Amino acid sequence: RAGQRAPLDVVCEISYVMVKPDGVQRGLVGEIIGRFERKGFKLKALQMRKCTREIAEEHYKDLKEKPFFKDLVDYILSGPVVAMVWEGNGVVASARKLIGATNPLNAEPGTIRGDLAIQTGRNVVHGSDSPDNGERETGLWFQGDATVEWSQTIQPWLTE
Ligand code: GDP
Ligand code: MG
Repeated sequence: RAGQRAPLDVVCEISYVMVKPDGVQRGLVGEIIGRFERKGFKLKALQMRKCTREIAEEHYKDLKEKPFFKDLVDYILSGPVVAMVWEGNGVVASARKLIGATNPLNAEPGTIRGDLAIQTGRNVVHGSDSPDNGERETGLWFQGDATVEWSQTIQPWLTE
């Protein structure tokens, strides 16, 4: 029926979100996590880690031919990152809106990059650009078991 959703709308969309090394060093981890948490998405995984060159290169493999690729990988390797998986209907596109444009000077005020960053090469956060990449990146950073199944008891206050 048009305009009506099933009462138990099955959620299957996830986004891989990561506070990059500059966000960690600048003490923005809580600020960034808080924006996703307050929005109402469900946190499925969270880990602070130093990543390997292999994972960083695989994560950004679509950009391998770009002139900034080596600098980008070095940036991601320059310190610990905070890796997260967030779940919810529409989470991928919504996370991209919360994060803002790639170049922080073009990012709207109110977005993470618009409020907290000034340069593309130090734009503090990553978010998957498609549901398929949400799955791919989650599999890459959280291999095997690491996402948590839990029911969010406030769910009826977030979605009808
Ligand atoms: P995103 O999806 O908004 O993060 O942007 P992209 O997928 O296009 O690029 C991935 C990341 O590469 C960006 O977030 C930046 O950290 C970096 N990046 C993209 N374009 C440039 C660039 O022109 N110069 C530099 N130094 N880094 C870039
Ligand atoms: Mg991207």
